[in-house]
Amino acid sequence: MIDNGRAHKTLTNTPLPNKAWLRAPATRALAAVTALAVAFGTIAPTTRTAQAQDAASGMRTIRDTEIEQLMRDYAQPILKVAGLAKQNVRVVVLNDRTFNAFVMDGRHIFINAGALFDAKTPNEVIGVLAHETGHMAGGHLARLREQLATAQTASVVAMLLGVGAMVAGARQGGGGGDVGAAAIMAPQSAIMRSLLAYVRTQEDQADHAGAKFLQETGQSPKGMVDLFKRLSNESLFNTRYIDPYMQSHPLPADRVAALEALARQSPYWDKKDPPELQLRHDMAKAKLAGFLEKPDTVARRYPLGDHSLPAQYARAISAYRYGDLRSSIAQIDALIAAQPSNPYFYELKGQAYLEGGRAAESIAPLRRAVALSRNAPLIQIMLGQALISSNDKAVAEEAVEMLKNSLIREPEAPDAYSQLAMAYGRKGDLAQADLASAQAAFTRGDLPTARQLATRAKTRLPIGSPAWVRADDIVNVKPTRN
Ligand SMILES: [Zn+2]
Repeated sequence: MIDNGRAHKTLTNTPLPNKAWLRAPATRALAAVTALAVAFGTIAPTTRTAQAQDAASGMRTIRDTEIEQLMRDYAQPILKVAGLAKQNVRVVVLNDRTFNAFVMDGRHIFINAGALFDAKTPNEVIGVLAHETGHMAGGHLARLREQLATAQTASVVAMLLGVGAMVAGARQGGGGGDVGAAAIMAPQSAIMRSLLAYVRTQEDQADHAGAKFLQETGQSPKGMVDLFKRLSNESLFNTRYIDPYMQSHPLPADRVAALEALARQSPYWDKKDPPELQLRHDMAKAKLAGFLEKPDTVARRYPLGDHSLPAQYARAISAYRYGDLRSSIAQIDALIAAQPSNPYFYELKGQAYLEGGRAAESIAPLRRAVALSRNAPLIQIMLGQALISSNDKAVAEEAVEMLKNSLIREPEAPDAYSQLAMAYGRKGDLAQADLASAQAAFTRGDLPTARQLATRAKTRLPIGSPAWVRADDIVNVKPTRN
């Protein structure tokens, strides 16, 4: 099902719909791609502003209620047995077609859309999440920082910049050894060797921890083993292209063999994913294909003769994305007929109408999607946008309530603040409109604009009111320095 000619380029440069589904702003914590590069932050501390992080990373997150809910359901049992349930760890899906997954702090597990595409079963993704949770539970990043803090700063910087390429070089050579290390100058080679040994130790620890978490949750470790095997085999034969995961997670044959020997002892080795979870997994992949792939690729992957729900889903999404709204709506209606209480089919119908310039018709399906999803904030934001785009003054108040509600659970969504500003504008409430615009600018990281708008909002708000206090907070924010 996955095409083997995996594209070298990522999709981050592809123009994407500027809607709640796929949105450009990167999450705040994104600064670097690999776990190794994370350590760079300890040497040149970066500011915590969204602006700086976005500029540094250029990474794009995929925001989608259906996929995020699936990731939560995959991760929660693992996080619980790892003792991390209370840390509110989020799985963030990145819009990148390469295979990668990594942790950078104690709050996020990052996984590329490419890894979800590659995973044949839920169990494979759960295996990757278990391994990454092993890094998190082991405090590996913090320890790597300590290790690096004692090394010479300049050489460590040089080394970190080169390490990804070097590991890739060694892999490309087909061997598991230090082929690339020969190219490193003498004083750095010692640090490099100890760092790689250290990374290797962490990988073994994360494998062990991951296998343990899977056993404690009654899940099979087979997916993790299968996936690692596939990745290490691919890297031997595909010299043109190396997944970033391989750079930060060296997978020599002996590591995979050791993991397999351990994993086969699990009483759950042969346990299969429940069919309903497999279906959700296949639907998530179909959705990613529909939104991220070109129509001919979708047609090849999901040919017309395939009447499965995932195939219908992918084709319906592709049809609306490439301008055939009429056909798309007919296909979505067929999906709704098959699963009348699936909120994401109504969400899709609303999104197709909204982006097709028919906002008034998007309202009813989006209201249904909000209700069926029990007020999923990202769907609320889309409904808010639909209500405003419909140009019906009578629904401005509903839009304000919807957007305010969504912001309680998505407090860093600039889109929601921009829409809220428009909704207040419709109502003629200019003070609140200014405040919401200031918050939108602030969330985007545009502090000068945020201050300017907040200053104006203050002149229009009753002094000391909650809204005035919020505006005053924005005016008085100190910029963080690099
Ligand atoms: Zn790892």
